[in-house]
Amino acid sequence: MPKLSVLLLILVLLGSASQISLAATAPYQLHWQHEFSSTEQVKLSQWLAFSSQATLKVLGPYPFAMQLYVYRRAGNEPVPWANTWREHSQQVHFYVAPQFSKHEFVADWTGYHEMAHLALPYLGQKNAWFAEGFASYMQYQIMQQAGLIDSAARVINAKFAPQRKHYLQQLSMADSAAQLLSQRRFAAGYWGGAQFFVVAERLLQQQGKAPLNLQIQRYQQCCRLQDTDLAQLIQSLDNLSDSTLFRQLLQEFNQLPAEAFLQLYQL
Ligand SMILES: [Zn+2]
Repeated sequence: MPKLSVLLLILVLLGSASQISLAATAPYQLHWQHEFSSTEQVKLSQWLAFSSQATLKVLGPYPFAMQLYVYRRAGNEPVPWANTWREHSQQVHFYVAPQFSKHEFVADWTGYHEMAHLALPYLGQKNAWFAEGFASYMQYQIMQQAGLIDSAARVINAKFAPQRKHYLQQLSMADSAAQLLSQRRFAAGYWGGAQFFVVAERLLQQQGKAPLNLQIQRYQQCCRLQDTDLAQLIQSLDNLSDSTLFRQLLQEFNQLPAEAFLQLYQL
């Protein structure tokens, strides 16, 4: 074989090797924080693998490995408590009741919700309504894509319906949702915040843009590791969608009386 061909062959092999190693980068690392039997570990590993795959299919891949911490906790649901933590890495802490079946873990929304949080940077306590609204909206998009529910839109409507009464007021949507969260009325705050994304999705569609999850997928590649606050995130989403809809929508969410906002968008 001529020297040049050998060199080319080596270069091609090196190229494909580096692609393989990129593709093989694990989307998450598991950290067992308590003792779990090997059967429990298999079941919980399978649940987290499924959750990660379903979430990243809709929102990812993420430009980092998620750090998943698993703790044992007594409870009457598969995941009695979970939260995200972002200090040194992108972490989710799952407190699980391992007596539940794999099927029950997979059918629970918590894994998708927590992993969806990591698609956005930490936005501060003041913007918790935005972060929670996003994760709540996306958990059902992910579950719909995974074939676990028929219609995310229908479930999100049903979740908001009993909370709607909290938004028939002069405070803005954002202020109402923030206030409800500070009163620990979580469902009311989450599903009010989720209306931002219900409307964003509708406006993207009306303007002939790609759906929200595709905007978020592209966001991972350009901006996820750069942005550090809500203003930057909104600017990035407007740039990606070549629109001003996120900025305008945020303004309405911040300034219009909630009651008027619901009426404007027939929510
Ligand atoms: Zn959350």
